[in-house]
Amino acid sequence: MRGGDTQKAQLGTRSVWAGEDAYLLQGATQVPVVHSVGFGYDDLEEWQDVALGRKPGHIYGRNTNPTVQVFEEKVRMLEGAEAATSFSTGMAAISGTLFSLLRPGDRIVSLVDTYGGTNKIFSEFLPRFDIEVVLCPTTNHERIIREVAAGAKILYLESPTNPTLKIVDLKRLAGAAHATGSLVVVDNTFATPINQQPLALGADLVIHSATKFLGGHADALGGVVCGPQDLIQTIYHYREINGATLHPMSAYLLLRGMKTLQLRVRRQSASAETVARFLASHPLVEHVYYPGLRTHENHDIARRQMQQFGGVLSFSLAGGFEAVRDFLPSLHYAHLAANLGAVETTAGPPRTTSHVECTAEERAALGIPETLIRYSVGIEDVDDLIADLAQGLERVRHVSPTLRI
Ligand SMILES: *Cc1c(COP(=O)(O)O)cnc(C)c1O
Repeated sequence: MRGGDTQKAQLGTRSVWAGEDAYLLQGATQVPVVHSVGFGYDDLEEWQDVALGRKPGHIYGRNTNPTVQVFEEKVRMLEGAEAATSFSTGMAAISGTLFSLLRPGDRIVSLVDTYGGTNKIFSEFLPRFDIEVVLCPTTNHERIIREVAAGAKILYLESPTNPTLKIVDLKRLAGAAHATGSLVVVDNTFATPINQQPLALGADLVIHSATKFLGGHADALGGVVCGPQDLIQTIYHYREINGATLHPMSAYLLLRGMKTLQLRVRRQSASAETVARFLASHPLVEHVYYPGLRTHENHDIARRQMQQFGGVLSFSLAGGFEAVRDFLPSLHYAHLAANLGAVETTAGPPRTTSHVECTAEERAALGIPETLIRYSVGIEDVDDLIADLAQGLERVRHVSPTLRI
């Protein structure tokens, strides 16, 4: 088979080859974008067999599509999972997973620091269906373990978190959850399978916003869930009926992006570490949030469960929001935009990015300073990024309390 036994290959090789062979058409070296909504059959018996899932094939674009299937295969192989299913966005993957697995009366345990949209599902939507949500302080492992031991259908985790880059011990928490029969779901968007493999650490399901690092080019939305066949079948069934299907063109763009996943993530992670160290030594920077720094609260856990520490960091400026307002527009090599994980650096405050859904009071309660800046490192030369940050910081020196002294 072209691409060999891809499951045995290393991650960089899998990024390039995994999942494609069976879909290459007439010698094409790239998978086709199949826009067809319907798939035709002359033989009614065969049509019926495919429709009932007794035979492989496609019936209707809301259910399955060849281009979408290659995308699912590639992510499945990168995460080392038995099965995978995709969604139109990361939030559709998260809500689809939760709504397909939870029932009224169930209890779910999670963290206060999950992605803003996920947090809204916990606070606004699940309670409507009589599902009890318990959100624990993110790094209080004892508290999380106690809440799980009290009974939970799902333990829902994210590490590193957005935007304060907290780290939770996935192996320890998965072990505790399994001891009491909870399912463990991990949002692996920030780490990517290149830096962290939640299934190998004991998680049952791993979710991605493919919009971010997997696609990597900020030109397609998508989501994906990987795990054991039975759970994925349940989640797939919810999606095929509820209809948050990944578009074939988006699947193609995400697939093309994933060819360079390992190249991009390694460079972004290395650059983020360099940038974090530069910022940590700068007098106008109050605090740097990056799990790769030895001063990070859970650096030791991050070292155990991650290869590198990822391409996203946050930092707070001395000088209040006035400083943020002057600093951000002065950057030459950063889009001030809500996305992350792209080849271009992006930067923004949580109030317009990760926690746009929250009020100022809610952000304060989550311990997110209003002077925080989330900085997602692109693939630019890191010296240029550091020079850019340095000139931006010089411009806000006038509002910094350090200068007024
Ligand atoms: C962006 C993001 C999501 C949501 O993904 P969309 O594709 O925007 O719906 C979920 N989790 C994390 C960690 C994210 O960064």
